[in-house]
Amino acid sequence: GALGGPEPGPQHRIRVCVRKRPLNPREAGLQDFDVVTVPCRGVVVVHEARQRLDLSRYLESQTFRFDHAFDESVPNELVYRHTAQPLVESIFRGGMATCFAYGQTGSGKTHTMVGDLSAKGQGCPKGIYTLAAQDVFCWLREPSYEQLELQVYGAFFEIYGGKVYDLLNWRNRLKVLEDGKQQIQVVGLQEEEVSCVEDVMKLIEMGNRCRTSGQTSANTHSSRSHAIFQIILRKRGKLHGKFSLIDLAGNERGADTGSADRRTRLEGAAINKSLLALKECIRALGRNKAHTPFRASKLTQVLRDSFIGENSCTCMIATISPGMRSCEHTLNTLRYANRVK
Ligand code: ADP
Ligand code: MG
Repeated sequence: GALGGPEPGPQHRIRVCVRKRPLNPREAGLQDFDVVTVPCRGVVVVHEARQRLDLSRYLESQTFRFDHAFDESVPNELVYRHTAQPLVESIFRGGMATCFAYGQTGSGKTHTMVGDLSAKGQGCPKGIYTLAAQDVFCWLREPSYEQLELQVYGAFFEIYGGKVYDLLNWRNRLKVLEDGKQQIQVVGLQEEEVSCVEDVMKLIEMGNRCRTSGQTSANTHSSRSHAIFQIILRKRGKLHGKFSLIDLAGNERGADTGSADRRTRLEGAAINKSLLALKECIRALGRNKAHTPFRASKLTQVLRDSFIGENSCTCMIATISPGMRSCEHTLNTLRYANRVK
């Protein structure tokens, strides 16, 4: 892997990383081949090969630079260490942190964020949701934070076709309201108090079951919805800090706006709108802009507090498939990630 040690120096408000997954057996079976390389720290190269050839005969290549680039050998723990982990402590200092997985369907967003819930016991990869929760409970026991007597809560909801559903409460449809002071409320969102990482894992499992239950195809559904898992710190009931971890809808779905099927078309339009709004809100955060266009989509609206204020910081993990057949989607993902910062 092209990895150095942890970054020194001041924390950046925005960190953008890329993660390449391995070529899978299905792709290999279709004679697809790897066109992505991670030659050194933070660099990704997409070789626009038309056929399987040696490197010297690749037609053209495009190079992108990010805060980090992880090749297919890098496990979740290491991705976590360089993305979400540096943000965990900020919520104890009253901050609002976010971590997004952005990319094409099948590129590894859920693998990165949720991990593998089906595999039980040793060796099943934990996702960033669980790894972040582990660290939250570690920080909670630090003497300087222990004295704050904070309570920890978990919330889990999804945005599908521009509507919000509670994943901890039978996909109960939720209303989003804005008061006169621009405060956003997801009315009735279930928050479960958690006291250990096992409690959090139960919530994640429950929410995930809820996410796909009653759906014709688990994968089609999750590729069209944004799943938002939140770890919330409260001090005597009052909000102290929040970490939102988001498994975004497949970015290729935003292109479904030309579909013949009306529902697919509307869903595609909602996804497109939200991903564009997200990019603009993160850019505004990075430039300390007074105006953040959070009202442009439901996704950015519910995350408003995370884009505003001194104590907000975010990281994006752009996940990419290695195959030549995914080349166009991969380039779209890298261009988007490039524009965020
Ligand atoms: P997405 O959520 O972006 O649609 P998934 O996370 O479901 O994609 O990944 C698709 C498949 O690829 C899954 O079977 C997953 O286990 C596998 N996969 C994804 N990323 C990796 C990785 N870094 N290492 C090994 N397998 C991976
Ligand atoms: Mg997924």
